[in-house]
Amino acid sequence: MTFTSSHSDLKQINRLAVINLIKKQPSLSRADIAKHTGLTKSTIGKIVQELIDEHWLQEEDAPTLLEGAGRRPTGLTLDNRTLTLLGAEIGVDFITVIACSITGEVRFHSNLPYQHNQLESSLDQLADLLTHVWHMMHSMNHHVLGLGISVPGMVNMPNEHVAVLPNLGWQNFNLIELMRARFTMQQLPLFPITIVNDANAAALSEFVFGRSQFNRNPLVHITVGVGVGAGITSENGLYRGTNGWAGEIGHSVLQPINGLPCACGQYGCVETLVSQRALSRALTSDSALLSVEHMQRRLAQGDVAVKAGLDEVGYYLGIVLRNVANYLNPESIVIGGPMSQFEDALMKPAIASFQAHSKGNLILPNIRLCEFGLLASSLGAAAAILIKHLEPNGIPVHFSHQGLLRK
Ligand SMILES: [Zn+2]
Repeated sequence: MTFTSSHSDLKQINRLAVINLIKKQPSLSRADIAKHTGLTKSTIGKIVQELIDEHWLQEEDAPTLLEGAGRRPTGLTLDNRTLTLLGAEIGVDFITVIACSITGEVRFHSNLPYQHNQLESSLDQLADLLTHVWHMMHSMNHHVLGLGISVPGMVNMPNEHVAVLPNLGWQNFNLIELMRARFTMQQLPLFPITIVNDANAAALSEFVFGRSQFNRNPLVHITVGVGVGAGITSENGLYRGTNGWAGEIGHSVLQPINGLPCACGQYGCVETLVSQRALSRALTSDSALLSVEHMQRRLAQGDVAVKAGLDEVGYYLGIVLRNVANYLNPESIVIGGPMSQFEDALMKPAIASFQAHSKGNLILPNIRLCEFGLLASSLGAAAAILIKHLEPNGIPVHFSHQGLLRK
């Protein structure tokens, strides 16, 4: 094999190989790692010591004595204690901020309702909350590696410039620069920031921290909230498309004749039929957007209009699922976003509709709720900064997670 990488690239790749190996097989010793990677024991010794010093790895408790065979070599595991990732989701009517470990263990999370008005004042609010979380982590001796921010709209790749957020009415701005300016004002240290589309972020939460990491078949994560979007992952990570806009299923047209106007300017988009707004519209005579929590309360009180509205939203969601299955032949399709809080009340009519539109069709993916509930996009944004931090030349990174937040 010929290596054309620079020395520092090669070192980074070797460090990653060690981290990934320990993730897949915890408790390996330095000698085991040398055997698995083909690197010399002295190279592994240096890399492991560096990774321990930087809090990526830790040694397991004191080695046990083996009968008549001396000491068992010290095992290594990922160090979940110090390194911290920040993730944020800018929603249409909420902001979520989390801090988590490198294996996705949530240290802090906060979900605030807010009114998106002006871009600048909304970002002030987000920056204040993140600054508060940064100080909280700092005071607990957690080291913040970086911040990922998910946004409900199109993000140009590779420059991560926000192209348009249709449901917020914001377009064409450099979110990284705007946030960096605010953190500088707050005298925070410089840390890497990455921007990711909310549906892509949600898919990354499954890919990096969730059960999907153990199964590399394609997965489509559909986020249903005020908007609708999909994130697609396969063996090599996120599939972004040419400009980073893959998965914009919310604006594929489902009802061209007599369809309702959509925020994008078209008529009869998926978002007009399968979304929080579509369900709100079935329940109010004006254009008010009802919160999912309000509609959940009404459902719990036996409101038949909410049930009928969910049956209709679920019916169209089932058709979307059928279309996605046909386009991409994924192993799993998972449903997340605020509307997924309805759980069975949405999933049952959606799956019934999917099956009704699947006669004679052999493409039958596993359809389920997402693992991380309302934290999926913010956790996935944190996963995005972890990938960016570690990944040289596009090599995907997979990390384990202790448990599922949602059964
Ligand atoms: Zn549209």
